[in-house]
Amino acid sequence: MILANARLPEKGPADVEIDGGVIRGIHTPGEAPQDGGRIDLGGLLLLPAFVDGHIHLDKTHWGAPRLPHVEGRSVRERIAAERVARRRVALPVEARASALIRQLIANGTTRARSHVDIDNDVKLANLEAVLRVRETYRDWIDIEIVAFPQSGVVAEKGAANLLADALKTGADLVGGLDPVGFDGDLKGQLDIVFGLAERFGKGVDIHLHDPGEEGAAELSDIAARTVAAGMQGRVAASHAFALGSVAPELFGETADRLARACVAIMTSCPPSAPVPPVRALREHGVTVFAGSDNIRDCWSPFGNGDMLDRTAIIAARHEMFTNRELEEAFALATIEADKALGDPRRGLHVRAAADLVALDAASVADAVVDRPRRAFVFRGGRIAAEGGIVSAAVP
Ligand SMILES: [Zn+2]
Repeated sequence: MILANARLPEKGPADVEIDGGVIRGIHTPGEAPQDGGRIDLGGLLLLPAFVDGHIHLDKTHWGAPRLPHVEGRSVRERIAAERVARRRVALPVEARASALIRQLIANGTTRARSHVDIDNDVKLANLEAVLRVRETYRDWIDIEIVAFPQSGVVAEKGAANLLADALKTGADLVGGLDPVGFDGDLKGQLDIVFGLAERFGKGVDIHLHDPGEEGAAELSDIAARTVAAGMQGRVAASHAFALGSVAPELFGETADRLARACVAIMTSCPPSAPVPPVRALREHGVTVFAGSDNIRDCWSPFGNGDMLDRTAIIAARHEMFTNRELEEAFALATIEADKALGDPRRGLHVRAAADLVALDAASVADAVVDRPRRAFVFRGGRIAAEGGIVSAAVP
């Protein structure tokens, strides 16, 4: 199959040859083999498909009537509100997660990492639902699942056993939540989280909202444990707000530790938090990647599962305004996210998976600024969405 008359960000006009779900050749227009199928992109910009590095497929209300947001600012207040409110959500997890996955695909995302709540109320029910949904959409999107102890690891009695069961059942990573701020037990939580990761050979992705010097100390501990366990490249800290508020010297020391341990930092760039400084972290060699986080759930009434919107939010917050900086923001939802999630077989090169997005923009920087509708989304060379509408072939 040939994607004819594409425009590649650096190489310009090209015919892209796809076979067996991967890019087999990038040809001067008109010089690609003429046999097989052909889609004329008419000069559309061709980009690698996007990665949403942090979503909550079980929490979203996408596809269900909006639940009025309940007041409460702290993590503890929101968790308590959610444990009550989630009983009132009109649709089951499968229906809402499926609706959001279709939205992700329509917007050009074909790889995502979803955290899934594990606690004494839901036990493994949400995980089992998301596993079923993942299976349904496996030909169209890659989904990694983090067993996420939303109500704590130490504070929620029995959570450690539930997390072990979740990893046996099919979760790909073990999560965590503010070891000090929520569990009040840094060693206790991290012993369990890293212990499970080592026992089951899984990665780690910890929600870390804890601020200031306390949060920075937790990040340093996470980095040290990552090195001790030989888990470099398989650990991430999501949010890491501490990095946005500590003094420059402590920031530099902490960033260097994260870089040496290959601990990646996920940012969704919420407007209300002191977010980790993306460019400074990258200058220290830390892998930074982007995610939507909460999409229309008990934590936020906003979000739309569009990673171009997310990169624009990140670029705006960090004043990444030049073309090079806008391209850097875009990388957080493509190449850098692939690096953080591992196995980066995607891109605009021969042998890369043919997960691609075609849209009407002059450049990557223009795509981030304009966020045009996705003309085509390709998954392994097959059309997954066209004109912002998911293909009929997608379940
Ligand atoms: Zn989250």
